[in-house]
Amino acid sequence: MSFALAAGDDDIATIPIACSGSVSEMFGPCKGSPILTICEPGMHLNGAMTEGRGLVLIVEDEPAIADVQRLYLSEAGYGVHVERDGAAGLASIRSLRPVAVVLDVGLPSMDGIAICRALRESGDWTPIIFVTARDDEVDRVLGLELGADDYLTKPFSPRELVARVRGILRRQDGPPSPRPLMLGPIVLDPGRRRVSVDSADVAFTSTEFDLLAKLMSAPGQVFSREQLLSSVWGHVDYGGGRTVDVHVAQVRAKLGEANPIRTVRGVGYTAES
Ligand code: CA
Repeated sequence: MSFALAAGDDDIATIPIACSGSVSEMFGPCKGSPILTICEPGMHLNGAMTEGRGLVLIVEDEPAIADVQRLYLSEAGYGVHVERDGAAGLASIRSLRPVAVVLDVGLPSMDGIAICRALRESGDWTPIIFVTARDDEVDRVLGLELGADDYLTKPFSPRELVARVRGILRRQDGPPSPRPLMLGPIVLDPGRRRVSVDSADVAFTSTEFDLLAKLMSAPGQVFSREQLLSSVWGHVDYGGGRTVDVHVAQVRAKLGEANPIRTVRGVGYTAES
């Protein structure tokens, strides 16, 4: 079943969508909303895509959180498809080809990390924003070479989620640089969003690609972690420099001996041949 939501819809009017608080603050009001009474397990609630921004797929087993995510992303103009089960989520990502996935870590039947791994192993690099409930989940998301593009820790502001989705898609849709960037054996083509080493393609996530592109845009220039967070992720005070460090490690691992990224102790990173 699909369920179209539009501004002014009677169902929406009872939900405090103007709330700027966290998901947990919105949990109570949403529990009593008429939306949830329609929201039986296994049912898909699809938001109306009003501005053709593309489909965002949410995999989240807590109905109240999924509803808030769906409402805010729908309001922002995205089509939204919700799955509450891990295996069903993976199947839908493969069949519906969303522009981005908002992926809970703890899920029935298959957790978010296993879903991400399955996608990446099959060559699917759809941007993924992980939603984590605990610090140890953050560690799992960041500590493995999973190809997570970003993550949010519960509770989070629904507006923050929308900002993160917009950030990832804006980077992907940005004006392509006309010229490929070259450094040693590495060629990075911003238009086709491809990286090759000695003419062999290397698969990167959206975030890894943007990080390498930023560093290769000015070889020899030292970028601070704050500068990289701001220009690549679009936010500043997020997990300190750890997010940057982890993604740099992943880029280095993928480039192997061709890695041009050097750590500048106490400052940040630079790329040089
Ligand atoms: Ca969960």
